[in-house]
Amino acid sequence: LFNQVQELKGNIRVMCRVRPVFNSSEGAAANLTFPDVDKESKELEVLGKEEKSSLGNVTRKPHAFSFDRVFGPEARNQEVFEEISQLVQSALDGYNVCIFCYGQTGSGKTHTMSSADGMIPRATHQIYETATNLKEKGWTYVMEGSFVEVYNEEIHDLLGSAKDFREKKHEIRHDDQRKQTTVTGLSKVALDSPGAVESILKQADSNRSVAATQSNARSSRSHSVFILKLVGHNSTTGEMSEGTLNLVDLAGSERLKSSGAEGDRMKETQNINKSLSCLGDVIGALGQNKEGGHIPYRNSKLTYLLQYSLGGNSKTLMFVMASPLEVHLTETLTSLKFATKVHNT
Ligand code: ADP
Ligand code: MG
Repeated sequence: LFNQVQELKGNIRVMCRVRPVFNSSEGAAANLTFPDVDKESKELEVLGKEEKSSLGNVTRKPHAFSFDRVFGPEARNQEVFEEISQLVQSALDGYNVCIFCYGQTGSGKTHTMSSADGMIPRATHQIYETATNLKEKGWTYVMEGSFVEVYNEEIHDLLGSAKDFREKKHEIRHDDQRKQTTVTGLSKVALDSPGAVESILKQADSNRSVAATQSNARSSRSHSVFILKLVGHNSTTGEMSEGTLNLVDLAGSERLKSSGAEGDRMKETQNINKSLSCLGDVIGALGQNKEGGHIPYRNSKLTYLLQYSLGGNSKTLMFVMASPLEVHLTETLTSLKFATKVHNT
């Protein structure tokens, strides 16, 4: 069903997830409501900041949003995963799939994507299980995982040694004939056991924690991309299939004030702003679907890396993550507006 729905609506889907308020010390909750009483909610209403009308009344402007799905604060990762499980599966059928988490720092991107309970281990386990079951039908899959960080428009290997992670340079190479991308010198880990993904996540965390001493917020200021390549061969029918699943935990979308930032911080900020707006531009250009039209993949490392997983034979899903707090209201509205633009392309 998912594939049918997706074919009718184009290849880009957008879902929203609002995280819970943890405790009162986090500050006041914003006014976020879920107008559908329906279990499979698709709508979200947000009251804007207080404004004084000309008559002196205090009002809040309502903003209504609608996405392919809206998850409220009570939703668990399990429920979120159920919604993407068909999409994940299609990578075994030879599709290139990209799933993004977009939102400001603290909104729940890493919890959703890269945590021990998140979409990366869940997707990997499901794929491993399905591939094992497909053996009966003659299919053998080679499954290979890579994990990169895009920081300041440079690629770092999250699965390399600590030294390589810091120093090794990597280039993106495209094979335009076969529509395939490779990154030079990148570690590849065979996903040949159900526990393999846990060691990948551990290794990535250990590299990230080393980097954290250099720049505290680095993991929020870089994109991380988990790349799962799936090459299948059916010995009975002779069929081949090549698909890729890309799971992307994006840099925090908050627009940091450039005025206070200097030097390295300024450069980081400009690179994040540039790569996130470039991602929006690429998805927008793909949505307009102009045959042979120019798609600006080359304008950022992230879109260049994902070129063959964003256009053509590919499926894209973006989670927009929203904080439930009043202090984050302006950023939340900015994220939701960005996601609406993506949803409408
Ligand atoms: P981000 O990666 O967007 O900066 P995190 O995923 O790190 O945000 O989330 C911030 C904090 O909130 C973390 O401690 C995380 O575990 C917690 N958190 C986020 N979303 C949820 C959720 N839906 N349920 C429970 N805890 C969450
Ligand atoms: Mg994070």
